[in-house]
Amino acid sequence: MGKTAKKGLSLARRLYTSRTLGLTLGLLCVGAAMYPLDPAPWVWALMLFNGILWPHLAYQWARRSERPYHAEYRNLLVDAFLGGFWVAAMQFNPLPSAVTLSMMTMNNVALGGLRFLLLGAVAQVLGLGVGLLVFSPAFIAQTSPLQLYACLPLLVLYPLALGWICFRQATTLGRHKRELLALSRTDSLTGLLNHGAWKDQLEVEYLRCQRQQQGGAIALIDIDHFKSINDTYGHVAGDIVLRQLSKMLKQNLRATDVAGRYGGDEFCVILPDMPLSSAAAAMEALRDRFVTLGYEQSPALKVSLSIGLAAFNPAHAEATLWLNDADQALYEAKTTGRNRVICRTGGKPSRQLLDSV
Ligand code: GH3
Ligand code: MG
Repeated sequence: MGKTAKKGLSLARRLYTSRTLGLTLGLLCVGAAMYPLDPAPWVWALMLFNGILWPHLAYQWARRSERPYHAEYRNLLVDAFLGGFWVAAMQFNPLPSAVTLSMMTMNNVALGGLRFLLLGAVAQVLGLGVGLLVFSPAFIAQTSPLQLYACLPLLVLYPLALGWICFRQATTLGRHKRELLALSRTDSLTGLLNHGAWKDQLEVEYLRCQRQQQGGAIALIDIDHFKSINDTYGHVAGDIVLRQLSKMLKQNLRATDVAGRYGGDEFCVILPDMPLSSAAAAMEALRDRFVTLGYEQSPALKVSLSIGLAAFNPAHAEATLWLNDADQALYEAKTTGRNRVICRTGGKPSRQLLDSV
């Protein structure tokens, strides 16, 4: 089933409830206005059809239609047409007429905005015209107390139901929005933050370090010879390695650390409030654990990591310069033999920090 058909079916289900409620209560309101006019039996029959049978018929019609969405819009126009027709039949009895037209208009605006407000108004005018042709035009100036009471259930309950439906829709929309936002910030393979979302966090951390004059570190982690892992063991095995690394990052970092996938086989981590020596120890432990990891599917597979680490430096004019330091440290790790951690403090790269751990 297509997305539009699904959307149409959910619209049909939603409208089934509100149409059944609105037209059943509407029958009471219109019936009380029509009763003193002593209408012909076919008018009563039409009224009963509209109030009791039509909501079910309209739902089945939309449900069985190939395009339920369009079928429901057609049903709404039928509703509006019949609304206009009953206003003429009630001889413009003020309260039942106003209640009938306003409830339908409220429904049309809620569903289709200005466009449907206008279309619905046209259908109501057409129904009114047909009603005037069928019944002799007349005008009743006053609504009796009984007719007023007969309108009250529709007047009170229908807006309540429509308001509830709109509220539930708004809640669902809000949830979907949050889910979409989370998806747009997540790397689908690893479940870590994606490039853009991680860089946003880096910006936040950089500003926090500047403001609070606190230290922190960032790490860029790259898998060594990953291309040849893909070539030798296949891309599925490559994906397993990527997932394994992300799992290890999630398990071994603190709750306050922020890990992301920078892209391809490169990962990135923010380690807030952590001296460079501790960050180096943490990254060294990660590198060590990862290189000894075994893979069930490919027992011969051994994977090492090169890691570039950079401490926050107040001299960094912007966050990208901090990232640049980590990038240079990573480059250094790659060019000096891979499978190692290189640290930068804003100056030259060094491994001395590691030696002191
Ligand atoms: P180096 O040691 O210098 O880092 O070499 P390398 O082979 O790891 O580096 P390179 O950047 O040339 O290779 C990265 C490879 O990662 C290339 C690309 O095909 C692969 N890759 C990128 N994204 C994915 C992915 O989602 N899954 C898999 N399996 N491979 C990926
Ligand atoms: Mg690599």
